[in-house]
Amino acid sequence: MKILVLNAGSSSVKYQLFNMDTNAVLASGMIEQIGENESNAKIKYFDHGVESVIERKSTIKDHKMALKLMSTLLIESGTISDLNDLDGIGHRVVQGGASFREPVIVTDYVADEIERLIPLAPLHNPGHLAGIQVSIEQSPNVPQVVVFDTAFHSTMPKHAYLYAIPYKFYEDLKIRRYGFHGTSHRFIVKEAAKYLQKDINTLNAITLHLGNGASVSAIRNGKCVDTSMGLTPLEGLIMGTRSGDIDPAVLFYLARKLGYSIDDLDKLVNKESGLKGICGNNDMRAINKLAEEGDAQAQLALDMFNYRIKKYIGSYSAVLGRVDCIIFTGGIGENDSNVRLNSCSDLKNLGIEIDATINNQRCRDILTISSSESKVKVLVIPTNEELEIAIQTKEVIENMK
Ligand code: ADP
Repeated sequence: MKILVLNAGSSSVKYQLFNMDTNAVLASGMIEQIGENESNAKIKYFDHGVESVIERKSTIKDHKMALKLMSTLLIESGTISDLNDLDGIGHRVVQGGASFREPVIVTDYVADEIERLIPLAPLHNPGHLAGIQVSIEQSPNVPQVVVFDTAFHSTMPKHAYLYAIPYKFYEDLKIRRYGFHGTSHRFIVKEAAKYLQKDINTLNAITLHLGNGASVSAIRNGKCVDTSMGLTPLEGLIMGTRSGDIDPAVLFYLARKLGYSIDDLDKLVNKESGLKGICGNNDMRAINKLAEEGDAQAQLALDMFNYRIKKYIGSYSAVLGRVDCIIFTGGIGENDSNVRLNSCSDLKNLGIEIDATINNQRCRDILTISSSESKVKVLVIPTNEELEIAIQTKEVIENMK
């Protein structure tokens, strides 16, 4: 069974082709700078066990041309002979609002809903929608499934997802917390249950997805009961360029004092804040290097980043009562042993203790980094959102039969 996973953004399309009999990646690639003069297209695949790459530079004016080129590259790589031979296409959609709690087959209703949700995800949903529409045109015989980043968080109770603002804004405008990175949180909880040989339906976990964007979820009995991102992916942890939690009055103050417009403020908290706002850099590797060289602002950014994570671990421990495991994932969570050690330091009272030696080990697979005395297992689990989308796409297609 071959399933293609598509992540279409406003100016890029990432894709991955899976053999779902073995969960192996057959090919992966991306098309960037769609709509600009020189677009860049790439595919990586295995030819008799050897990794091969094809790259093309051309003008790709829209998603239609992008998906045509992707199809040409997939066929050239020999991994498929025609897009219509695929068993399914899974589309990543960031914002599914309150309408979608599960992955679904694309219908006119589903496409209309994704369009209706554009105001809640203006940077993401238009690109997703363009990708879905072109994909249906090009592969009309292939079942197309959408997998929502928000779906895993749809089990949050109302007291966790509501903002304490007048209730009519929830009723009229659906302003509430939705959460994001759901596909990744779901994937690592499932992996942890398998690894710990526990029934997922009894597993309590705190999952930390730490990449450029970062979020943390509280999982009770395998289901999400709280998460740090909100109406948009701005709330919660400190991120590369996003402030995370902030007193909204800071923004009123800036507007009144410096005359900042809504757009200025939006840019400030989304693009110029977080790690970058504190130390001028948003790449954790560079920040670590600067801190090692004695850069005080870089060290401050690290301290603030870790402190915010620690606060969430504490509050989600209170939410859950019993925590079986804490899971780190994402570019930072999987690779940065200092972040893991420092965000979990002095948490013995919560039953959390990291073994510093094991924590320093490099591992491409799952690693337990907690000490033998730690009541809570602390795990590093590489995430694989594309595979999770492919798995969910396969499940939806099989349930149709
Ligand atoms: P995205 O949210 O864009 O998918 P990733 O999950 O790839 O992001 O994470 C990107 C972040 O991971 C960057 O801050 C990068 O510096 C950090 N990162 C990647 N590798 C390492 C590493 N070896 N050590 C520390 N941080 C790393």
